[in-house]
Amino acid sequence: MGVAVQAQIARVGAALVDRAIRSPALGGEPGRRFAFTVGAARTLRSLDRHTDTRIDPSRAGRALLAAAPHALATLASHLPGGCALVSATNGKTTTTNLLAEIARAAGHDPVVNHLGANMPPGVCAELIGRSRRGATRADLGVFEADELWLDHMVGPLAPRVIVLGNLFRDQLDRMGEIDRVAARWRACVAGLPASTVLVVNADDPRVCQLTAAHPNVVHFGLADHDREAPLGSTDVPDCLHCGGMLTYRGAHVGHLGSWSCPTCGDRRPPAPTVEASDVAVRGLGGASFTLTARDSGSGASVAERVQLSMPGRFNVVNATAAAGAALALGYSVASIVAGLTRSAGAFGRSEQLQIGEQTVTLVLAKNPCGFDEVITMLGSEPGPLDLLFVLNDRDLDGRDVSWIWDSDVERLAPHVARATCGGSRAAEAALRLDYAGIDPSVIEVVDGIEAPLHRALERAGRPVVAVANYSAMLDVRETVAELGHAARYWW
Ligand SMILES: [Zn+2]
Repeated sequence: MGVAVQAQIARVGAALVDRAIRSPALGGEPGRRFAFTVGAARTLRSLDRHTDTRIDPSRAGRALLAAAPHALATLASHLPGGCALVSATNGKTTTTNLLAEIARAAGHDPVVNHLGANMPPGVCAELIGRSRRGATRADLGVFEADELWLDHMVGPLAPRVIVLGNLFRDQLDRMGEIDRVAARWRACVAGLPASTVLVVNADDPRVCQLTAAHPNVVHFGLADHDREAPLGSTDVPDCLHCGGMLTYRGAHVGHLGSWSCPTCGDRRPPAPTVEASDVAVRGLGGASFTLTARDSGSGASVAERVQLSMPGRFNVVNATAAAGAALALGYSVASIVAGLTRSAGAFGRSEQLQIGEQTVTLVLAKNPCGFDEVITMLGSEPGPLDLLFVLNDRDLDGRDVSWIWDSDVERLAPHVARATCGGSRAAEAALRLDYAGIDPSVIEVVDGIEAPLHRALERAGRPVVAVANYSAMLDVRETVAELGHAARYWW
């Protein structure tokens, strides 16, 4: 039987199972009927894998939650090590994957939403994938949570540990202003039991201040900075306590840094439990840093050098967040260093793809701060760049792509030898590069995803760096897989 026919049968089968799960005859009451419904959802997940359509990793979870709204809580309650949740504007997928790798380094088998499906159906689908006869076979859950869904996931998952990484301006049309997300997080934190450990970025004043009243906080942060103050394009928040204007002794990613409020005296916690120092970044080649973990009781500390295969200072922040969460979960510093060292990161985040003889490094940039950090990283690469800039404006990204004008693309201009622009907003991407000072004669606009990818490879005199926003990153990744050059990301 041909692959296309098998895929079609799988698609029809999946549609039938999806309908059956949602029918009142199955339903999701506890007991055998629930176990049977979970089994049907597992079948749906498995059939989805064999269809020829683009992957929706959440579909089985959505079907099960429609039939059994308590499914998330029931399946998560079987995890002997409980759950950890990771939320942030930037870096949550990478931090989640790093934390999972630390758990594996310690000999545990975590269930993880590693593809970034970070709302309740996505987490539910991962739990379905690990269920047998209605129970969940995994040691613990490590899940990333969308910033606006965090409060909906805390109830059913009852996490032991929650990482609150950072809040940056992102998808204004979906998220609204950052203050809206911050208010939701603040209400969520106020409702937590005291036993829940919050792992909080000491360098993000907003996140730090909104968690100040919680009795159980592990702070993490970076001890050294690569700039005196946040970049001019950064949104520095006002003091959450008194409304005063914050000042900085140094900054690293966006508005993250050594902040203080001259008006009320609040400031970055001086000695975070987990801290990164002596950060060395090597362009796209990775980064290294010294990780210091302090015992909050005795004050004793352990310091270890960590080599990350992932590039950029922002990945050092992610690694430090994962280390803080791992300490809160009880993992040793040795397991933390082992897990961080061996992790390759998340798909599509500085992932190297081989296409024939050529290499494409796929880099995600989905909001002004993330793009600024990618620009800093690419600026530290030796030699000129062959850039592929793919920009989409789907619902997944937010329809408004004007954020590309808020990033300091001008810093990238001197490094670009050739630029090819693709995606549904290729023309706007090209216009941004033009305004940034890149010679228009080296910028080409090619419609679609596959065509600009081929064109960039054809023009390139060296490895191509593909900078893509969220759905564009998925498109490029999937296109390379369809061309047979990479595995499809799946479970
Ligand atoms: Zn203040």
